[in-house]
Amino acid sequence: MNFFSYFNRIFHGHPSASKFFVISSLSSGGLIAHADSPSEGGKSIFELNQKVPQKKKVVVLGTGWAGTSFLKDLDISSYDVQVVSPRNYFAFTPLLPSVTCGTVEARSIVEPVRNIIKKRNGEINFWEAECLKIDQANRKIFCRSIIDENLAGNNEFSLQYDYLIIAIGAQVNTFNTSGVLEHCHFLKEVEDAQKIRRTVIDCFEKAVLPGLTEEERKTNLHFVVVGGGPTGIEFAAELHDFVHEDLVNIYPSVKDLVNITVIQSGDHILNSFDERISSFAERKFQRDGIQVLTGHRVVSVSDRLINMKNKTTGNDDSMPHGMVVWSTGVGTHPVVKDFMEQVGQGNRRVLATDEWLRVKGCENVYALGDCATVDQKKIMEDISEIFKAADKDNSGTLTIEEFQDVIEDVIIRYPQVELYLNSKHLFDVADLLRDTDGNDRLEVDIEGFKLALSHVDTQMKSLPATAQVAAQQGAYLSRCFNIWDKCKDNPEGPRKFRSGGRHEFRPFRYRHLGQFAPLGGEQAAAELPGDWVSMGHSTQWLWYSVYASKQVSWRTRFLVIGDWSRRYIFGRDSSRI
Ligand code: FAD
Ligand code: MG
Repeated sequence: MNFFSYFNRIFHGHPSASKFFVISSLSSGGLIAHADSPSEGGKSIFELNQKVPQKKKVVVLGTGWAGTSFLKDLDISSYDVQVVSPRNYFAFTPLLPSVTCGTVEARSIVEPVRNIIKKRNGEINFWEAECLKIDQANRKIFCRSIIDENLAGNNEFSLQYDYLIIAIGAQVNTFNTSGVLEHCHFLKEVEDAQKIRRTVIDCFEKAVLPGLTEEERKTNLHFVVVGGGPTGIEFAAELHDFVHEDLVNIYPSVKDLVNITVIQSGDHILNSFDERISSFAERKFQRDGIQVLTGHRVVSVSDRLINMKNKTTGNDDSMPHGMVVWSTGVGTHPVVKDFMEQVGQGNRRVLATDEWLRVKGCENVYALGDCATVDQKKIMEDISEIFKAADKDNSGTLTIEEFQDVIEDVIIRYPQVELYLNSKHLFDVADLLRDTDGNDRLEVDIEGFKLALSHVDTQMKSLPATAQVAAQQGAYLSRCFNIWDKCKDNPEGPRKFRSGGRHEFRPFRYRHLGQFAPLGGEQAAAELPGDWVSMGHSTQWLWYSVYASKQVSWRTRFLVIGDWSRRYIFGRDSSRI
Protein backbone atom coordinates (compact mmCIF):
# COMPACT_ATOMS: atom_id res chain seq x y z
CA MET A 1 0.00 0.00 0.00
CA ASN A 2 1.56 3.32 -0.98
CA PHE A 3 1.34 6.49 1.09
CA PHE A 4 -1.63 7.90 -0.83
CA SER A 5 -3.84 4.84 -0.58
CA TYR A 6 -2.96 4.51 3.10
CA PHE A 7 -3.82 8.18 3.66
CA ASN A 8 -7.02 7.78 1.68
CA ARG A 9 -8.11 4.85 3.86
CA ILE A 10 -7.42 6.76 7.05
CA PHE A 11 -9.22 9.82 5.68
CA HIS A 12 -12.41 8.02 4.74
CA GLY A 13 -12.39 5.44 7.49
CA HIS A 14 -11.86 7.93 10.32
CA PRO A 15 -13.49 11.23 9.38
CA SER A 16 -12.93 12.81 12.77
CA ALA A 17 -9.27 11.87 12.89
CA SER A 18 -8.75 13.16 9.38
CA LYS A 19 -10.43 16.44 10.19
CA PHE A 20 -8.27 16.81 13.24
CA PHE A 21 -5.24 16.13 11.08
CA VAL A 22 -6.22 18.63 8.40
CA ILE A 23 -7.31 21.31 10.82
CA SER A 24 -4.29 21.00 13.05
CA SER A 25 -2.00 21.12 10.04
CA LEU A 26 -3.65 24.23 8.74
CA SER A 27 -5.02 26.16 11.59
CA SER A 28 -3.06 28.29 13.91
CA GLY A 29 -6.16 29.01 15.89
CA GLY A 30 -8.17 30.27 12.93
CA LEU A 31 -11.72 29.61 11.87
CA ILE A 32 -13.09 26.11 11.90
CA ALA A 33 -15.93 25.79 9.48
CA HIS A 34 -19.35 24.59 10.45
CA ALA A 35 -19.47 22.15 7.55
CA ASP A 36 -16.72 20.24 9.26
CA SER A 37 -18.61 19.66 12.49
CA PRO A 38 -18.75 16.02 13.49
CA SER A 39 -21.85 13.90 13.09
CA GLU A 40 -23.24 11.06 15.11
CA GLY A 41 -24.10 7.54 14.06
CA GLY A 42 -27.65 6.69 12.94
CA LYS A 43 -28.33 4.50 16.01
CA SER A 44 -27.96 7.19 18.64
CA ILE A 45 -29.93 9.66 16.50
CA PHE A 46 -32.77 7.16 16.35
CA GLU A 47 -32.71 6.68 20.13
CA LEU A 48 -32.69 10.39 20.73
CA ASN A 49 -35.76 10.91 18.59
CA GLN A 50 -37.54 8.20 20.57
CA LYS A 51 -36.81 9.96 23.82
CA VAL A 52 -38.14 13.34 22.72
CA PRO A 53 -41.31 12.60 20.81
CA GLN A 54 -42.94 15.98 21.37
CA LYS A 55 -40.39 18.01 19.43
CA LYS A 56 -41.79 21.04 17.62
CA LYS A 57 -41.60 20.83 13.83
CA VAL A 58 -39.45 23.55 12.28
CA VAL A 59 -39.53 23.82 8.49
CA VAL A 60 -36.85 25.94 6.83
CA LEU A 61 -37.30 27.13 3.23
CA GLY A 62 -34.04 27.91 1.46
CA THR A 63 -30.37 27.03 1.84
CA GLY A 64 -28.86 30.40 1.02
CA TRP A 65 -27.17 32.81 3.41
CA ALA A 66 -30.09 33.19 5.80
CA GLY A 67 -31.26 29.56 5.87
CA THR A 68 -27.78 28.11 6.24
CA SER A 69 -26.77 30.52 8.93
CA PHE A 70 -29.95 29.62 10.85
CA LEU A 71 -29.23 25.89 10.57
CA LYS A 72 -25.56 26.17 11.38
CA ASP A 73 -25.97 26.95 15.08
CA LEU A 74 -29.49 25.67 15.77
CA ASP A 75 -29.69 23.35 18.75
CA ILE A 76 -31.71 20.57 17.16
CA SER A 77 -32.10 18.53 20.32
CA SER A 78 -35.42 20.27 20.94
CA TYR A 79 -36.67 20.62 17.35
CA ASP A 80 -37.58 18.34 14.49
CA VAL A 81 -36.03 20.25 11.58
CA GLN A 82 -36.82 19.81 7.89
CA VAL A 83 -35.19 21.86 5.18
CA VAL A 84 -36.64 22.40 1.71
CA SER A 85 -34.65 23.96 -1.11
CA PRO A 86 -34.33 23.33 -4.84
CA ARG A 87 -30.52 23.58 -4.46
CA ASN A 88 -28.75 20.94 -2.41
CA TYR A 89 -25.83 23.29 -1.82
CA PHE A 90 -24.99 26.65 -0.30
CA ALA A 91 -23.45 29.12 -2.76
CA PHE A 92 -21.00 31.81 -1.68
CA THR A 93 -22.63 34.50 -3.86
CA PRO A 94 -20.00 37.26 -3.41
CA LEU A 95 -17.65 35.15 -5.55
CA LEU A 96 -20.20 34.51 -8.33
CA PRO A 97 -18.78 37.31 -10.52
CA SER A 98 -15.40 35.56 -10.32
CA VAL A 99 -17.04 32.37 -11.61
CA THR A 100 -18.28 34.14 -14.76
CA CYS A 101 -14.71 34.44 -16.03
CA GLY A 102 -13.13 31.36 -14.51
CA THR A 103 -11.07 33.24 -11.92
CA VAL A 104 -12.70 30.84 -9.48
CA GLU A 105 -14.36 27.55 -10.40
CA ALA A 106 -18.06 27.00 -9.63
CA ARG A 107 -17.45 24.02 -7.37
CA SER A 108 -15.02 26.01 -5.27
CA ILE A 109 -17.75 28.33 -3.99
CA VAL A 110 -20.41 25.79 -3.09
CA GLU A 111 -20.79 23.54 -0.09
CA PRO A 112 -23.25 20.62 -0.08
CA VAL A 113 -26.14 21.25 2.31
CA ARG A 114 -25.80 17.72 3.61
CA ASN A 115 -22.26 18.52 4.79
CA ILE A 116 -23.52 21.58 6.57
CA ILE A 117 -26.42 19.91 8.35
CA LYS A 118 -24.51 16.95 9.74
CA LYS A 119 -25.11 17.52 13.44
CA ARG A 120 -24.69 16.03 16.85
CA ASN A 121 -27.70 15.01 18.91
CA GLY A 122 -30.18 14.64 16.15
CA GLU A 123 -30.87 14.86 12.51
CA ILE A 124 -31.91 17.53 10.08
CA ASN A 125 -33.87 16.27 7.11
CA PHE A 126 -33.18 17.89 3.77
CA TRP A 127 -35.59 17.65 0.85
CA GLU A 128 -34.41 18.86 -2.57
CA ALA A 129 -37.60 20.48 -3.78
CA GLU A 130 -39.17 23.87 -4.16
CA CYS A 131 -41.98 25.13 -2.03
CA LEU A 132 -44.93 25.99 -4.27
CA LYS A 133 -47.42 27.19 -1.70
CA ILE A 134 -47.65 28.02 1.96
CA ASP A 135 -51.04 27.28 3.53
CA GLN A 136 -50.80 29.37 6.63
CA ALA A 137 -54.29 28.58 7.97
CA ASN A 138 -53.45 24.84 8.14
CA ARG A 139 -49.72 25.29 8.88
CA LYS A 140 -48.74 23.31 5.85
CA ILE A 141 -46.45 23.79 2.85
CA PHE A 142 -46.77 22.15 -0.54
CA CYS A 143 -43.59 21.20 -2.36
CA ARG A 144 -42.48 19.72 -5.65
CA SER A 145 -39.23 17.98 -6.35
CA ILE A 146 -37.30 19.40 -9.28
CA ILE A 147 -35.55 16.10 -9.91
CA ASP A 148 -36.00 14.42 -13.30
CA GLU A 149 -39.65 13.41 -13.88
CA ASN A 150 -38.50 10.10 -15.38
CA LEU A 151 -37.37 8.75 -12.03
CA ALA A 152 -39.86 6.56 -10.17
CA GLY A 153 -42.16 7.98 -7.51
CA ASN A 154 -44.28 10.99 -6.82
CA ASN A 155 -42.73 14.43 -7.18
CA GLU A 156 -45.11 16.30 -4.90
CA PHE A 157 -45.47 16.25 -1.13
CA SER A 158 -46.61 18.42 1.75
CA LEU A 159 -45.12 19.14 5.17
CA GLN A 160 -46.73 20.23 8.41
CA TYR A 161 -44.98 22.85 10.55
CA ASP A 162 -45.17 24.38 13.99
CA TYR A 163 -42.66 27.06 13.00
CA LEU A 164 -41.90 28.08 9.44
CA ILE A 165 -38.70 29.91 8.51
CA ILE A 166 -38.98 31.56 5.10
CA ALA A 167 -35.50 32.24 3.71
CA ILE A 168 -36.01 31.79 -0.02
CA GLY A 169 -34.26 34.95 -1.12
CA ALA A 170 -35.41 37.02 -4.06
CA GLN A 171 -35.54 36.55 -7.78
CA VAL A 172 -34.30 38.77 -10.58
CA ASN A 173 -36.31 41.86 -11.35
CA THR A 174 -36.81 42.67 -15.03
CA PHE A 175 -39.18 45.58 -14.29
CA ASN A 176 -41.32 44.01 -17.06
CA THR A 177 -38.84 45.29 -19.65
CA SER A 178 -39.60 43.66 -22.97
CA GLY A 179 -37.11 41.06 -24.21
CA VAL A 180 -35.10 40.84 -21.00
CA LEU A 181 -36.17 37.31 -20.04
CA GLU A 182 -35.50 36.04 -23.55
CA HIS A 183 -32.25 37.82 -24.45
CA CYS A 184 -30.39 38.71 -21.26
CA HIS A 185 -28.22 36.78 -18.86
CA PHE A 186 -28.72 37.10 -15.11
CA LEU A 187 -26.18 36.71 -12.36
CA LYS A 188 -28.04 35.23 -9.43
CA GLU A 189 -27.28 31.53 -9.39
CA VAL A 190 -24.20 29.40 -9.98
CA GLU A 191 -25.74 28.14 -13.24
CA ASP A 192 -26.09 31.76 -14.42
CA ALA A 193 -22.39 32.36 -13.87
CA GLN A 194 -21.46 29.18 -15.73
CA LYS A 195 -23.70 30.16 -18.64
CA ILE A 196 -22.13 33.61 -18.82
CA ARG A 197 -18.65 32.05 -18.89
CA ARG A 198 -19.60 29.87 -21.87
CA THR A 199 -21.30 32.74 -23.69
CA VAL A 200 -18.26 35.03 -23.37
CA ILE A 201 -16.15 32.35 -25.05
CA ASP A 202 -18.88 31.82 -27.69
CA CYS A 203 -18.76 35.53 -28.52
CA PHE A 204 -15.00 35.35 -29.09
CA GLU A 205 -15.12 32.11 -31.10
CA LYS A 206 -17.91 33.53 -33.28
CA ALA A 207 -16.03 36.80 -33.77
CA VAL A 208 -12.97 35.07 -35.19
CA LEU A 209 -14.84 32.84 -37.68
CA PRO A 210 -14.01 33.52 -41.33
CA GLY A 211 -16.47 35.50 -43.44
CA LEU A 212 -17.70 38.02 -40.86
CA THR A 213 -17.55 41.74 -41.49
CA GLU A 214 -15.61 43.90 -39.06
CA GLU A 215 -18.93 45.37 -37.88
CA GLU A 216 -20.27 41.88 -37.09
CA ARG A 217 -17.11 40.95 -35.20
CA LYS A 218 -17.42 44.17 -33.21
CA THR A 219 -21.08 43.49 -32.41
CA ASN A 220 -20.27 40.00 -31.14
CA LEU A 221 -17.61 41.45 -28.88
CA HIS A 222 -19.79 44.17 -27.38
CA PHE A 223 -20.58 43.12 -23.82
CA VAL A 224 -23.29 45.15 -22.09
CA VAL A 225 -23.99 45.20 -18.37
CA VAL A 226 -27.30 46.72 -17.28
CA GLY A 227 -27.10 48.00 -13.71
CA GLY A 228 -24.29 49.91 -12.04
CA GLY A 229 -24.67 48.32 -8.60
CA PRO A 230 -21.94 46.25 -6.93
CA THR A 231 -22.74 43.03 -8.84
CA GLY A 232 -22.85 44.66 -12.30
CA ILE A 233 -19.66 46.63 -11.65
CA GLU A 234 -17.78 43.65 -10.30
CA PHE A 235 -18.80 41.59 -13.31
CA ALA A 236 -17.71 44.35 -15.74
CA ALA A 237 -14.35 44.58 -13.95
CA GLU A 238 -13.87 40.79 -13.98
CA LEU A 239 -14.72 40.63 -17.67
CA HIS A 240 -12.28 43.43 -18.45
CA ASP A 241 -9.51 41.54 -16.64
CA PHE A 242 -10.40 38.27 -18.39
CA VAL A 243 -10.33 39.95 -21.79
CA HIS A 244 -7.14 41.93 -21.29
CA GLU A 245 -5.13 39.44 -19.22
CA ASP A 246 -6.10 36.24 -21.06
CA LEU A 247 -8.34 36.47 -24.11
CA VAL A 248 -6.49 39.10 -26.14
CA ASN A 249 -3.45 36.82 -26.13
CA ILE A 250 -5.36 33.88 -27.56
CA TYR A 251 -7.62 35.87 -29.93
CA PRO A 252 -5.09 38.53 -31.10
CA SER A 253 -6.90 39.23 -34.39
CA VAL A 254 -9.92 40.77 -32.62
CA LYS A 255 -8.25 42.32 -29.63
CA ASP A 256 -9.06 45.88 -30.68
CA LEU A 257 -12.73 45.16 -31.33
CA VAL A 258 -13.80 44.35 -27.77
CA ASN A 259 -16.06 46.81 -25.92
CA ILE A 260 -17.64 46.69 -22.50
CA THR A 261 -20.52 49.07 -21.67
CA VAL A 262 -22.26 49.61 -18.34
CA ILE A 263 -25.74 51.17 -18.48
CA GLN A 264 -26.94 52.79 -15.28
CA SER A 265 -30.21 54.64 -14.80
CA GLY A 266 -28.89 56.75 -11.92
CA ASP A 267 -26.32 59.52 -12.17
CA HIS A 268 -23.43 57.45 -10.83
CA ILE A 269 -22.34 53.85 -10.63
CA LEU A 270 -22.03 52.24 -7.17
CA ASN A 271 -24.40 54.85 -5.81
CA SER A 272 -25.04 52.88 -2.61
CA PHE A 273 -21.36 53.43 -1.73
CA ASP A 274 -19.55 56.49 -0.46
CA GLU A 275 -19.19 59.21 -3.12
CA ARG A 276 -15.38 58.84 -3.08
CA ILE A 277 -15.68 55.18 -4.05
CA SER A 278 -18.15 55.79 -6.81
CA SER A 279 -15.99 58.49 -8.43
CA PHE A 280 -12.84 56.35 -7.99
CA ALA A 281 -14.65 53.51 -9.80
CA GLU A 282 -15.81 55.85 -12.58
CA ARG A 283 -12.29 57.17 -13.13
CA LYS A 284 -10.82 53.67 -13.11
CA PHE A 285 -13.36 52.42 -15.65
CA GLN A 286 -12.65 55.43 -17.86
CA ARG A 287 -8.92 54.62 -17.80
CA ASP A 288 -9.66 50.96 -18.54
CA GLY A 289 -11.84 51.87 -21.53
CA ILE A 290 -15.08 50.54 -19.99
CA GLN A 291 -17.87 52.80 -21.25
CA VAL A 292 -20.27 53.97 -18.53
CA LEU A 293 -23.63 55.34 -19.69
CA THR A 294 -25.34 56.97 -16.73
CA GLY A 295 -28.85 58.44 -16.83
CA HIS A 296 -30.05 55.85 -19.35
CA ARG A 297 -33.00 53.53 -18.87
CA VAL A 298 -33.22 50.34 -20.92
CA VAL A 299 -36.66 50.09 -22.53
CA SER A 300 -36.32 46.85 -24.49
CA VAL A 301 -33.80 44.23 -25.55
CA SER A 302 -33.81 42.14 -28.72
CA ASP A 303 -31.40 39.42 -29.84
CA ARG A 304 -29.21 42.05 -31.55
CA LEU A 305 -30.10 45.45 -30.06
CA ILE A 306 -30.47 47.05 -26.69
CA ASN A 307 -32.81 50.07 -26.73
CA MET A 308 -32.57 52.86 -24.17
CA LYS A 309 -33.98 56.24 -23.27
CA ASN A 310 -31.74 59.08 -22.20
CA LYS A 311 -33.42 60.31 -19.02
CA THR A 312 -32.19 63.89 -19.39
CA THR A 313 -32.85 64.56 -23.07
CA GLY A 314 -35.69 62.04 -23.53
CA ASN A 315 -33.99 60.79 -26.71
CA ASP A 316 -34.11 57.14 -27.73
CA ASP A 317 -30.87 55.35 -28.39
CA SER A 318 -29.88 51.82 -29.31
CA MET A 319 -26.72 49.71 -29.45
CA PRO A 320 -25.93 46.35 -31.04
CA HIS A 321 -24.67 43.76 -28.55
CA GLY A 322 -23.12 40.30 -28.39
CA MET A 323 -24.22 39.61 -24.84
CA VAL A 324 -26.23 41.48 -22.16
CA VAL A 325 -26.01 40.81 -18.43
CA TRP A 326 -29.02 42.15 -16.53
CA SER A 327 -28.19 43.06 -12.96
CA THR A 328 -30.75 45.52 -11.65
CA GLY A 329 -32.17 44.79 -8.23
CA VAL A 330 -34.35 42.03 -6.91
CA GLY A 331 -38.00 40.97 -7.19
CA THR A 332 -40.42 38.79 -5.22
CA HIS A 333 -40.78 34.98 -5.58
CA PRO A 334 -44.35 33.96 -6.58
CA VAL A 335 -44.68 31.74 -3.48
CA VAL A 336 -43.88 34.73 -1.26
CA LYS A 337 -46.29 36.93 -3.22
CA ASP A 338 -49.09 34.42 -2.68
CA PHE A 339 -48.25 34.14 1.02
CA MET A 340 -48.21 37.93 1.38
CA GLU A 341 -51.77 38.02 0.08
CA GLN A 342 -52.83 35.44 2.65
CA VAL A 343 -51.44 37.52 5.53
CA GLY A 344 -52.73 40.90 4.36
CA GLN A 345 -49.45 42.17 2.89
CA GLY A 346 -50.58 41.93 -0.74
CA ASN A 347 -49.57 45.48 -1.60
CA ARG A 348 -45.94 45.09 -0.51
CA ARG A 349 -42.79 44.10 -2.43
CA VAL A 350 -41.15 42.07 0.33
CA LEU A 351 -42.52 40.38 3.44
CA ALA A 352 -42.69 42.71 6.42
CA THR A 353 -41.56 41.33 9.76
CA ASP A 354 -41.27 42.86 13.21
CA GLU A 355 -37.89 43.31 14.90
CA TRP A 356 -37.99 39.69 16.07
CA LEU A 357 -38.22 38.59 12.40
CA ARG A 358 -41.82 37.35 12.88
CA VAL A 359 -43.97 37.87 9.80
CA LYS A 360 -46.57 40.52 10.51
CA GLY A 361 -50.14 39.29 10.38
CA CYS A 362 -49.54 35.64 11.24
CA GLU A 363 -48.18 33.43 13.98
CA ASN A 364 -45.13 31.17 14.11
CA VAL A 365 -43.82 32.22 10.71
CA TYR A 366 -40.45 33.97 10.43
CA ALA A 367 -38.89 35.55 7.34
CA LEU A 368 -35.26 36.52 6.85
CA GLY A 369 -32.81 37.53 4.18
CA ASP A 370 -33.67 39.04 0.81
CA CYS A 371 -37.34 37.97 0.92
CA ALA A 372 -38.09 40.08 3.99
CA THR A 373 -37.70 43.50 5.49
CA VAL A 374 -37.79 44.49 9.15
CA ASP A 375 -40.58 46.98 9.72
CA GLN A 376 -39.07 48.96 12.54
CA LYS A 377 -41.34 50.48 15.16
CA LYS A 378 -41.36 54.29 15.32
CA ILE A 379 -40.66 55.66 18.76
CA MET A 380 -43.28 58.38 18.21
CA GLU A 381 -46.00 55.69 17.98
CA ASP A 382 -45.30 54.66 21.58
CA ILE A 383 -44.18 57.96 23.00
CA SER A 384 -47.14 58.42 25.40
CA GLU A 385 -46.75 54.85 26.74
CA ILE A 386 -43.01 55.36 27.26
CA PHE A 387 -43.73 58.60 29.11
CA LYS A 388 -46.37 56.91 31.30
CA ALA A 389 -44.09 53.98 32.13
CA ALA A 390 -41.22 56.30 32.99
CA ASP A 391 -43.27 58.71 35.10
CA LYS A 392 -43.25 56.46 38.16
CA ASP A 393 -44.60 59.05 40.58
CA ASN A 394 -47.43 60.03 38.20
CA SER A 395 -46.41 63.66 38.49
CA GLY A 396 -47.10 64.38 34.81
CA THR A 397 -43.42 65.26 34.35
CA LEU A 398 -40.24 63.25 33.88
CA THR A 399 -37.12 63.90 35.86
CA ILE A 400 -33.70 62.99 34.45
CA GLU A 401 -33.58 60.03 36.88
CA GLU A 402 -37.00 58.78 35.75
CA PHE A 403 -35.88 59.02 32.13
CA GLN A 404 -32.61 57.24 32.90
CA ASP A 405 -34.55 54.36 34.43
CA VAL A 406 -36.19 53.49 31.13
CA ILE A 407 -33.55 54.60 28.65
CA GLU A 408 -31.76 51.26 28.46
CA ASP A 409 -34.99 49.53 27.41
CA VAL A 410 -35.79 52.38 25.02
CA ILE A 411 -32.40 52.07 23.30
CA ILE A 412 -32.77 48.30 22.91
CA ARG A 413 -36.36 48.52 21.65
CA TYR A 414 -35.80 51.52 19.33
CA PRO A 415 -32.24 51.27 17.89
CA GLN A 416 -32.78 54.55 16.05
CA VAL A 417 -32.26 56.36 19.41
CA GLU A 418 -28.62 55.27 19.54
CA LEU A 419 -28.08 56.18 15.88
CA TYR A 420 -29.61 59.59 16.56
CA LEU A 421 -27.38 60.19 19.59
CA ASN A 422 -24.32 59.22 17.51
CA SER A 423 -25.35 61.41 14.61
CA LYS A 424 -25.75 64.40 16.92
CA HIS A 425 -22.54 63.55 18.82
CA LEU A 426 -24.49 63.31 22.07
CA PHE A 427 -22.80 61.14 24.67
CA ASP A 428 -25.45 61.16 27.36
CA VAL A 429 -29.15 60.53 26.89
CA ALA A 430 -29.85 63.33 29.33
CA ASP A 431 -28.59 65.64 26.59
CA LEU A 432 -31.76 64.76 24.69
CA LEU A 433 -33.84 66.53 27.31
CA ARG A 434 -32.01 69.84 27.02
CA ASP A 435 -34.12 72.81 25.97
CA THR A 436 -33.79 74.45 22.55
CA ASP A 437 -31.03 76.78 23.85
CA GLY A 438 -29.02 73.75 25.07
CA ASN A 439 -29.69 74.33 28.78
CA ASP A 440 -30.19 71.37 31.13
CA ARG A 441 -33.74 70.84 32.34
CA LEU A 442 -34.67 69.22 35.62
CA GLU A 443 -37.88 67.78 34.23
CA VAL A 444 -40.00 67.72 31.07
CA ASP A 445 -43.72 67.31 30.47
CA ILE A 446 -45.17 65.09 27.73
CA GLU A 447 -45.00 67.84 25.10
CA GLY A 448 -41.36 68.54 25.94
CA PHE A 449 -40.65 64.81 25.83
CA LYS A 450 -42.27 64.43 22.41
CA LEU A 451 -40.28 67.39 21.12
CA ALA A 452 -37.03 65.98 22.48
CA LEU A 453 -37.50 62.70 20.62
CA SER A 454 -39.32 64.05 17.58
CA HIS A 455 -36.33 63.69 15.20
CA VAL A 456 -35.17 60.28 16.38
CA ASP A 457 -37.25 58.34 13.84
CA THR A 458 -35.52 60.07 10.92
CA GLN A 459 -32.59 57.71 11.60
CA MET A 460 -34.60 54.61 10.64
CA LYS A 461 -33.24 52.90 7.54
CA SER A 462 -34.36 49.73 5.85
CA LEU A 463 -31.68 47.06 5.73
CA PRO A 464 -29.94 46.31 2.43
CA ALA A 465 -30.50 43.01 0.59
CA THR A 466 -27.07 41.59 1.36
CA ALA A 467 -25.48 38.37 2.53
CA GLN A 468 -24.31 40.16 5.65
CA VAL A 469 -27.85 41.00 6.74
CA ALA A 470 -29.17 37.54 5.83
CA ALA A 471 -26.39 35.74 7.72
CA GLN A 472 -26.78 37.89 10.82
CA GLN A 473 -30.54 37.34 10.81
CA GLY A 474 -30.10 33.56 10.53
CA ALA A 475 -27.65 33.53 13.44
CA TYR A 476 -29.92 35.78 15.51
CA LEU A 477 -32.99 33.60 14.97
CA SER A 478 -31.22 30.33 15.77
CA ARG A 479 -30.01 31.86 19.04
CA CYS A 480 -33.62 32.81 19.90
CA PHE A 481 -34.77 29.27 19.16
CA ASN A 482 -31.94 27.86 21.28
CA ILE A 483 -32.70 29.94 24.37
CA TRP A 484 -36.48 29.98 24.01
CA ASP A 485 -37.24 27.74 26.99
CA LYS A 486 -34.98 29.77 29.23
CA CYS A 487 -36.41 33.08 28.06
CA LYS A 488 -40.01 32.07 28.68
CA ASP A 489 -39.31 32.32 32.43
CA ASN A 490 -36.49 34.85 32.31
CA PRO A 491 -37.13 37.15 29.38
CA GLU A 492 -34.01 38.95 28.17
CA GLY A 493 -35.76 41.48 25.97
CA PRO A 494 -36.72 45.08 26.68
CA ARG A 495 -39.79 46.25 28.54
CA LYS A 496 -43.13 46.21 26.66
CA PHE A 497 -44.20 49.81 27.03
CA ARG A 498 -47.74 49.25 25.75
CA SER A 499 -48.85 46.01 27.38
CA GLY A 500 -46.45 45.66 30.32
CA GLY A 501 -44.04 42.80 30.98
CA ARG A 502 -40.94 42.16 28.89
CA HIS A 503 -40.22 40.81 25.42
CA GLU A 504 -38.75 37.30 25.51
CA PHE A 505 -35.78 38.23 23.32
CA ARG A 506 -33.83 41.30 22.39
CA PRO A 507 -34.88 42.53 18.94
CA PHE A 508 -32.63 41.84 15.93
CA ARG A 509 -29.89 44.42 15.60
CA TYR A 510 -27.83 44.64 12.40
CA ARG A 511 -24.09 45.34 12.68
CA HIS A 512 -22.66 46.70 9.46
CA LEU A 513 -19.17 45.35 8.92
CA GLY A 514 -18.47 47.27 5.72
CA GLN A 515 -18.69 46.42 2.04
CA PHE A 516 -16.28 45.81 -0.82
CA ALA A 517 -16.32 46.63 -4.52
CA PRO A 518 -13.61 44.84 -6.51
CA LEU A 519 -12.77 47.01 -9.52
CA GLY A 520 -10.39 44.82 -11.51
CA GLY A 521 -6.65 45.14 -12.18
CA GLU A 522 -5.98 43.97 -8.60
CA GLN A 523 -7.70 47.03 -7.19
CA ALA A 524 -10.74 47.21 -4.94
CA ALA A 525 -12.63 49.77 -2.90
CA ALA A 526 -13.97 49.21 0.58
CA GLU A 527 -16.30 51.07 2.86
CA LEU A 528 -15.59 50.07 6.42
CA PRO A 529 -17.35 50.93 9.68
CA GLY A 530 -16.67 54.39 11.04
CA ASP A 531 -16.87 56.10 7.63
CA TRP A 532 -13.51 54.66 6.70
CA VAL A 533 -12.91 54.34 2.98
CA SER A 534 -10.04 52.47 1.40
CA MET A 535 -9.19 52.07 -2.28
CA GLY A 536 -6.47 50.55 -4.44
CA HIS A 537 -4.17 47.52 -4.49
CA SER A 538 -3.89 47.08 -0.72
CA THR A 539 -7.68 46.95 -0.48
CA GLN A 540 -7.68 44.12 -3.00
CA TRP A 541 -5.43 42.15 -0.61
CA LEU A 542 -7.82 42.94 2.20
CA TRP A 543 -10.61 41.63 -0.05
CA TYR A 544 -8.69 38.38 -0.67
CA SER A 545 -8.14 37.81 3.03
CA VAL A 546 -11.70 38.64 4.09
CA TYR A 547 -13.26 36.45 1.41
CA ALA A 548 -10.90 33.58 2.14
CA SER A 549 -11.71 33.77 5.83
CA LYS A 550 -15.47 33.98 5.22
CA GLN A 551 -15.62 30.68 3.33
CA VAL A 552 -18.04 28.23 4.90
CA SER A 553 -15.63 25.32 5.12
CA TRP A 554 -11.93 24.55 5.01
CA ARG A 555 -12.60 22.64 1.80
CA THR A 556 -13.95 25.66 -0.09
CA ARG A 557 -11.28 27.89 1.48
CA PHE A 558 -8.60 25.59 0.04
CA LEU A 559 -10.31 25.46 -3.35
CA VAL A 560 -10.78 29.23 -3.62
CA ILE A 561 -7.21 30.04 -2.61
CA GLY A 562 -6.03 27.33 -5.00
CA ASP A 563 -8.04 28.89 -7.83
CA TRP A 564 -6.61 32.33 -7.14
CA SER A 565 -3.07 30.90 -7.18
CA ARG A 566 -3.74 28.91 -10.36
CA ARG A 567 -4.99 32.06 -12.04
CA TYR A 568 -1.78 33.91 -11.08
CA ILE A 569 0.42 31.18 -12.45
CA PHE A 570 -1.44 29.89 -15.52
CA GLY A 571 -4.11 32.51 -16.26
CA ARG A 572 -7.81 31.72 -16.67
CA ASP A 573 -9.02 28.74 -18.65
CA SER A 574 -10.84 29.68 -21.86
CA SER A 575 -12.25 26.24 -22.75
CA ARG A 576 -15.93 26.30 -23.53
CA ILE A 577 -17.14 23.62 -21.11
P1 FAD B 1 -30.29 33.34 -1.08
O1 FAD B 1 -28.90 33.30 -0.60
O2 FAD B 1 -30.56 33.76 -2.48
O3 FAD B 1 -30.93 31.91 -0.83
C1 FAD B 1 -32.23 31.60 -1.18
C2 FAD B 1 -32.43 30.10 -1.03
O4 FAD B 1 -33.79 29.77 -1.23
C3 FAD B 1 -31.65 29.30 -2.06
O5 FAD B 1 -31.12 28.18 -1.44
C4 FAD B 1 -32.71 28.90 -3.06
O6 FAD B 1 -32.40 27.71 -3.73
C5 FAD B 1 -33.89 28.71 -2.14
N1 FAD B 1 -35.20 28.79 -2.79
C6 FAD B 1 -35.56 29.53 -3.85
N2 FAD B 1 -36.85 29.30 -4.15
C7 FAD B 1 -37.31 28.41 -3.25
C8 FAD B 1 -38.56 27.78 -3.05
N3 FAD B 1 -39.61 28.03 -3.83
N4 FAD B 1 -38.67 26.89 -2.04
C9 FAD B 1 -37.62 26.61 -1.23
N5 FAD B 1 -36.42 27.20 -1.37
C10 FAD B 1 -36.27 28.08 -2.38
N6 FAD B 1 -24.07 40.35 -0.50
C11 FAD B 1 -23.07 40.80 0.28
O7 FAD B 1 -23.31 41.07 1.46
N7 FAD B 1 -21.81 40.96 -0.21
C12 FAD B 1 -21.50 40.67 -1.51
O8 FAD B 1 -20.36 40.81 -1.93
C13 FAD B 1 -22.54 40.17 -2.34
N8 FAD B 1 -22.28 39.86 -3.64
C14 FAD B 1 -23.27 39.32 -4.41
C15 FAD B 1 -22.97 38.93 -5.72
C16 FAD B 1 -23.95 38.38 -6.52
C17 FAD B 1 -23.64 37.97 -7.93
C18 FAD B 1 -25.26 38.20 -6.01
C19 FAD B 1 -26.34 37.58 -6.85
C20 FAD B 1 -25.56 38.60 -4.71
C21 FAD B 1 -24.57 39.16 -3.90
N9 FAD B 1 -24.85 39.55 -2.60
C22 FAD B 1 -23.84 40.02 -1.80
C23 FAD B 1 -26.21 39.50 -2.07
C24 FAD B 1 -26.44 38.21 -1.31
O9 FAD B 1 -26.09 37.10 -2.11
C25 FAD B 1 -27.90 38.09 -0.93
O10 FAD B 1 -28.30 39.22 -0.21
C26 FAD B 1 -28.09 36.85 -0.07
O11 FAD B 1 -27.86 35.71 -0.87
C27 FAD B 1 -29.48 36.78 0.53
O12 FAD B 1 -29.57 35.62 1.27
P2 FAD B 1 -30.93 34.79 1.32
O13 FAD B 1 -30.66 33.63 2.21
O14 FAD B 1 -32.04 35.70 1.63
O15 FAD B 1 -31.17 34.31 -0.18
MG1 MG C 1 -42.51 62.13 37.34
